[in-house]
Amino acid sequence: MVLLRFAPSPTGALHLGGLRTALYNHLFAKKHGGKWILRIEDTDAVRYVPTAVDDIKNALTWAGLPHDFGPGVDGPHGPYFQSERLDLYHSYTRRLLDSGHAYRCFCSPDKLAATREKLARTGSNATYDKSCLHLTEEEVARRVRAGEKSIVRLNDDNLPDRASPTDIVFGLLRDAHASLPTDPVLLKSDLFPTYHLASVVDDHEMDITHVLRGEEWLPSLPLHLDLYSCLGLEPPQFAHLPILLNPNGTKMSKRNGDVSVLDFMRRGWEPEGVLNWLALAGWGVHHENGRPSPPGTPSTQPPDSTTLMTLPELIDQFDLSSVTHRRNVLDPAKLAYLNKHHLMRSWQTEQGIAFQARRVHDVVKAAFPHSPYTNVEYITRVISVLQGRITNLHDVPTLAPFFFVEPDYELPEARSVKRGLSADDYGKSRTVNHVVRRVILQLESSSPSTQSDIAVFLHDACEKTGLKSKVFMTALRHALSGMKAGPSLPEIIDVLGTERTAQRLKLALS
Ligand code: GLU
Repeated sequence: MVLLRFAPSPTGALHLGGLRTALYNHLFAKKHGGKWILRIEDTDAVRYVPTAVDDIKNALTWAGLPHDFGPGVDGPHGPYFQSERLDLYHSYTRRLLDSGHAYRCFCSPDKLAATREKLARTGSNATYDKSCLHLTEEEVARRVRAGEKSIVRLNDDNLPDRASPTDIVFGLLRDAHASLPTDPVLLKSDLFPTYHLASVVDDHEMDITHVLRGEEWLPSLPLHLDLYSCLGLEPPQFAHLPILLNPNGTKMSKRNGDVSVLDFMRRGWEPEGVLNWLALAGWGVHHENGRPSPPGTPSTQPPDSTTLMTLPELIDQFDLSSVTHRRNVLDPAKLAYLNKHHLMRSWQTEQGIAFQARRVHDVVKAAFPHSPYTNVEYITRVISVLQGRITNLHDVPTLAPFFFVEPDYELPEARSVKRGLSADDYGKSRTVNHVVRRVILQLESSSPSTQSDIAVFLHDACEKTGLKSKVFMTALRHALSGMKAGPSLPEIIDVLGTERTAQRLKLALS
């Protein structure tokens, strides 16, 4: 069985890149009938943010990606917080020390900084001069006994031979030791492991079969493979997921607050829309002209029309071998498209409509706290005439405020509609009044109750004014909504009801 892990560090809120990693872990695990673990990599006390674990869990819950094992869901591989697994890292460190693959270093941070500077001045790529590698066993034992602080380093002069790194997404890689620090630190002086040691130990101890993680960890892969071979362990398979770019080509990063998943939730995006958007960024055609393109080349995404997919559909069609290694742009226009279509899908069931109506109720209530027109039954009718126009549920108050409050005819849009009404007929402002009077008069004698009755009624009223239909409709729309576009007039009148329509028309005249 495949077993994967999503291993965020609790250093802040979950960002889009992290959610994409969790999603791909979920897709791959479920596609292959496997499971995934949520592992909290809390080994960096300095960058630890106490609210982060809850934020990460909330974001995953919102997205509909429940972990199979991890915090709150016991399993055979726990504990799932690295800070609770220190004994394990210490025993692996012992093994590496005993086999001569690692050694203790007693250099102080100041001394290390001075050494680094000196090496850089001589043009060396090394970041440490390995001075502690040459301490005798007795000397090391004496200094440990004396309680002197030390760290543990990997001895990169004494690494077993191993195959070059391969990655499912990036293919065969050059061994890039030059980009790694000299004799990387495995255990820090506070006795916490570094990410590298903890990650290798846990992936092994937890029986992880596939590691899917962000491209930023690709340079660490040779080091991780070295650790596996020093310990005589079989590594899992690796797939690094390409960096996500903003539309302007800059890297998405945690520092940029607007990529937090909870922000997307707060801004009203559907989890299905966000998952669909993230899934398809990077899941495209692997080869161009039969040849892989070089890493770092931005790719275009598959066409919108064919890509509306729910989570079960994504799982069904997920194929790690078609994940591209090219950097992918997350285009907000594409999210808007997908979100809108997921909303339309959800309105195809009674249950979906009821669920969304409750959400819109909260949004409308917050936007128009004094409106008496916010009950869920009324909102359901509003949604039924707005569907197809709503990109994000949070847009409802700006898309059709006139369903909830009286129009403000002094707003620029209302004024410009009025100005634009044809002067040929009765004069700019008189056109509206003329239409409105006619409709009020007619509403008093008949009160059409279905949308088709209303359409006939409006046709008749228009004829009586002698105005062109377009002018009539624009004038009436202005009076009813203060806007130049929106649902059809029969739809608006049907939702408002004839009584409220008449009241509103009188208001427009005053
Ligand atoms: N803790 C790392 C992070 O938050 C995860 C790296 C990994 O998945 O190996 O990015």
